[in-house]
Amino acid sequence: MSDIFEKPETGLIGGAPLRGRHAVVTGATRGIGWEIAQTLARLGATITLMGRDEALLASRVQELGENHDAVTCDVADDSSVHKAFTAAIDARGPVHILINNAGIGASAPFHRMDDAHWNSIINTNLNGTFHCTRRVYPAMRDAGWGRIVNVASTAGLKGYGYIAAYAASKHGVVGLTRALAIEAAKTGVTVNAVCPGYTDTDIVANTVETIIGKTGRTAEEARAELAHHNPQGRLVQPWEVAETVAWLCLPASASITGQSIAIAGGEVT
Ligand code: NDP
Repeated sequence: MSDIFEKPETGLIGGAPLRGRHAVVTGATRGIGWEIAQTLARLGATITLMGRDEALLASRVQELGENHDAVTCDVADDSSVHKAFTAAIDARGPVHILINNAGIGASAPFHRMDDAHWNSIINTNLNGTFHCTRRVYPAMRDAGWGRIVNVASTAGLKGYGYIAAYAASKHGVVGLTRALAIEAAKTGVTVNAVCPGYTDTDIVANTVETIIGKTGRTAEEARAELAHHNPQGRLVQPWEVAETVAWLCLPASASITGQSIAIAGGEVT
């Protein structure tokens, strides 16, 4: 792919506009969440990384350097979320920025989808966003400043076959974003969603494996099929999502709220 899609060396935003801000990133151990954590840290924020894999969290926080923490948290489990946010706030003070990124994907034909499939996706992607948001929103509101960014998906804006539970969860996240943004409009708290198209992470790697298993295509053909959804003919890179998330967190982005921004090379217009 041509140079025009390469990551600029300095990132898109410079300086340390988020210095003094405490940001929680869920699902921060891998993929998009890890990229977001690094980008917000580069912009000066103190990060609390959350995820379920204790060992990976420990190594990620070491990579990020001093001034950052990691706390284990299963966003689908409200008591785990309560414990994790209490620990994060005790350690680093109130949360100014919440990135609801933790999520899972799985596909199944609708007529074969069972309760376990439906519930695990809704509990993680939609209920997880609710669980985490309610731990920080009241204090943001009282403080008169806050940034909440939900990592939804193009599947929150349009349908795709075989992912009814995933699309329902992400449409739910977009709905929550729109409603809370209006409710919060006069409080100094903005609430937005980003909606990536197929992005080059483990989720896509798993989807490629599924396509290979179901159709006998090669890995290259399977990746090309996913890239074909994007008019730019490529997979979105995690850093591109992270830069958009960071921009939404800037003090100067105060007027941008209730938006669900597609990061998908023109797939959704
Ligand atoms: P990855 O699978 O690479 O990473 C997912 C992250 O979420 C991991 O850190 C994982 O950590 C964490 N996670 C999963 N379940 C939970 C849970 N119950 N509690 C806490 N953490 C959890 O996925 P991506 O980076 O691709 O996905 C990130 C977000 O972006 C998701 O919400 C996804 O739906 C969304 N998205 C992804 C797209 C893509 O094509 N990749 C496209 C559009 C949206 P661990 O398992 O260690 O807990």
